[in-house]
Amino acid sequence: MNLNDLKYLIVGAGFFGSVIAERIANELNRKVLIIDKRNHIGGNCYSENDSDTGIHYHKYGTHIFHTSNQKVWDYINQFTEFNSYRHQVLSTYKNKVYQMPINLKTINSFYNLNLKPFEVNDFLKSEISKEKISEPKNFEESAILLIGRPLYEAFIKGYTKKQWQKEPKNLPKSILKRLPFRKNYNDSYYFSKWQGIPLNGYTEIFNKLLNNKNIEQKLELDFFDIKDKITKETIVIYSGQLDKYFDYKFGKLEWRTLDFVKKTMQVDDNQGTAVMNFAEEEIPYTRIHEPKHLHPEKNYTKEKTIVFEEYSKPDDGNEPYYPVNDEKNKQLAAKYKEEAKKEKNLIIGGRLGHYSYYDMHQTIESALNVFEQIKKL
Ligand SMILES: Cc1cc2nc3c(=O)[nH]c(=O)nc-3n(C[C@H](O)[C@H](O)[C@H](O)COP(=O)(O)OP(=O)(O)OC[C@H]3O[C@@H](n4cnc5c(N)ncnc54)[C@H](O)[C@@H]3O)c2cc1C
Repeated sequence: MNLNDLKYLIVGAGFFGSVIAERIANELNRKVLIIDKRNHIGGNCYSENDSDTGIHYHKYGTHIFHTSNQKVWDYINQFTEFNSYRHQVLSTYKNKVYQMPINLKTINSFYNLNLKPFEVNDFLKSEISKEKISEPKNFEESAILLIGRPLYEAFIKGYTKKQWQKEPKNLPKSILKRLPFRKNYNDSYYFSKWQGIPLNGYTEIFNKLLNNKNIEQKLELDFFDIKDKITKETIVIYSGQLDKYFDYKFGKLEWRTLDFVKKTMQVDDNQGTAVMNFAEEEIPYTRIHEPKHLHPEKNYTKEKTIVFEEYSKPDDGNEPYYPVNDEKNKQLAAKYKEEAKKEKNLIIGGRLGHYSYYDMHQTIESALNVFEQIKKL
């Protein structure tokens, strides 16, 4: 690794960094160094086989690939085939299982009714009219105005409290954008044109993206340990935390993180689905993942399965997952992004660099667009 005559340095071997590395190496036929502070490539999409059961799992939580973007779909298909998995989410509330997002099946099971789609609006209107909210001031009021108090209290309130460790009354209305709700029986989680799980997992995609004589990889290397040695001529493509790049000079951005607790169960199938939400506040985890269900095409052992309980907590700066997109943090992120524009030969992007919740297809699309800018440098 020679930092003196380095033209391109990529920080972070997730989708953002790895797609750009592949493009520079293949299309520009230029040398590139990609580093990651973790001991593996793939960022949060990293996947591996469980050594005991052979079940392929996603180390940082279940990842479903989905997109309606032809360019992204064509690009990713050069590196993997996908299986036919279609994502569906269920939620357990008081020992009964319901479909998520809330749809007509959820409403009818919850109220023990048999409403038709055209009757849902009037039914919910009568629920909502019991409230005295005219202009919603926060997340809780917006949610109640959308689905009525009983459904909100069953499926949204406790889950949201566990996810954010804040009272829904103290959360901004803007979070409601993430509460899809349907008046029919559609139980697909995504409406994307294409979806699935890579047949051999995500890590194989990253191995293929980075398998090029022009790409040098260095793992377990933190950018901040070499930052001082980077020359001004090197183009730095940075997908680490936005605020950290600037040494937190305007203050720290807030993040949420997740803990996963793995359990091996001596049964073939523990919950019958890949992701089960747990709506009640008293149950400490938000979800249970059972990765066996992501690969219905594989012949896994019938003797065992693995599950991961998911716990949400504030990030202490070590493993940030989700940005806290409230006004205060958005403004702070915007200030750092302005600062980034002032630096020559610096490109900041990806989930951590943009302080944005990006799905994989959005990250890849953004990386392909950034590559077009890099070509002009
Ligand atoms: C729990 C969870 C579930 C998700 N589920 C889905 C899903 O179902 N479908 C979907 O499309 N998307 C999903 N996503 C989103 C998906 O993970 C992201 O879109 C994608 O990982 C973003 O890629 P990235 O390269 O920007 O970031 P990352 O994958 O986070 O990669 C950034 C890399 O930079 C490295 N890094 C950071 N700082 C430094 C430093 N100082 N020095 C060296 N290396 C550094 C990190 O170690 C990391 O490997 C999910 C995300 C989470 C958190």
